[in-house]
Amino acid sequence: MEIPLVDLNAQYHSIKAEIDQAIQRVIDHSSFILGEEVRRFERAFADYVGAKDAVGVSSGTAALNLALRAVGVGPGDEVITTPLTFFATAEAISQTGARPVFVDIDDRTYNLDVEKIESVITAKTKAILPVHLYGHPADMGALLDMARRHKIWLIEDAAQAHGAKYRGQYCGAIGHLACFSFFPAKNLGAYGDAGAVTGNDDSLLERVRKLRDHGRVTKYEHEEIGFGERLDGLHAAILRAKLSHLDSWIEARRKIAHDYGMLLSDCDVVLPYEAPDVRHAYHLYVLRVNRRDEVLAHLKSRGIAAGIHYPVPLHRQPAYLKAGYGVNSFPITERIVREILSLPMYPELGAAQIGFIAQSIKEVAGR
Ligand SMILES: *Cc1c(COP(=O)(O)O)cnc(C)c1O
Repeated sequence: MEIPLVDLNAQYHSIKAEIDQAIQRVIDHSSFILGEEVRRFERAFADYVGAKDAVGVSSGTAALNLALRAVGVGPGDEVITTPLTFFATAEAISQTGARPVFVDIDDRTYNLDVEKIESVITAKTKAILPVHLYGHPADMGALLDMARRHKIWLIEDAAQAHGAKYRGQYCGAIGHLACFSFFPAKNLGAYGDAGAVTGNDDSLLERVRKLRDHGRVTKYEHEEIGFGERLDGLHAAILRAKLSHLDSWIEARRKIAHDYGMLLSDCDVVLPYEAPDVRHAYHLYVLRVNRRDEVLAHLKSRGIAAGIHYPVPLHRQPAYLKAGYGVNSFPITERIVREILSLPMYPELGAAQIGFIAQSIKEVAGR
């Protein structure tokens, strides 16, 4: 039995007719960049997350970069974020000319430890950029409160959190702006690079809309220097077809997480935590185990593609070594990156596969 980490082909085959129709429609209308298809997806996605509007862009990284610029982040500024995330979170901050300031994580949710933020806020702090890591919402209530008190922006990196909820509200409509990635393997994925910025503030969204399309306000009038970071019609049409299935896919992910939890409950592992006031979207199902590399190798020998998200925290990435982040400043992150293990997780994963994966873990992790 070969079990991949994600299976995009299985998803395509479950909704093939809808996807094929959406693609054909875009080709028939030659609606390739922005236009009606993008507008309709933006509207549908904003309605889904409960935000006022959405702006489709070319990737999650572009969403982060443009959202940070829209609130005015630039050279000389500091933006607080987590060292345990995909590289693009900090990269987008650096692209604006600002400096990422890392804060250690909570050892249950693996998200920013809100208690540790206050002490790094300075006069240069312009924004906090929490990540809803693995699909578990960051502690948005406390973060919003802190952002208000210090008059700084709160931008959500929701690239892993389509369908996640915090106190009944979808991620994407809580902070000042939120950034989504539709990279193919995300909870909602395009067939290439794509992303969106969502929010409730018209003037901020307007700024993102302008920045994604060369600073343009009308066809021949460019008000500022922007970027070529527009969303394609094909991706928008595919994403809109998939959006109507997203909630049932999230439920399937949650069922798989529940089954993994039951099967591994007597095993010497730390299961993913779900805070009482959130709906975890399980973009990734991440355990902690001792002798992680041994477990990973054993799973591989059984044909199971597990992964590590992420083996190297951002303050130790070569690109940030010169920035002089203290190697010993993030002890929780350092401990956790040696123990985390991502198990296969996708809505179509079957009971037999889940049982086989759990059994294979038990063979090494013991009881
Ligand atoms: C995927 C991801 C991104 C970047 O998205 P792309 O669409 O690949 O540019 C940013 N942040 C996080 C947390 C991600 O998981």
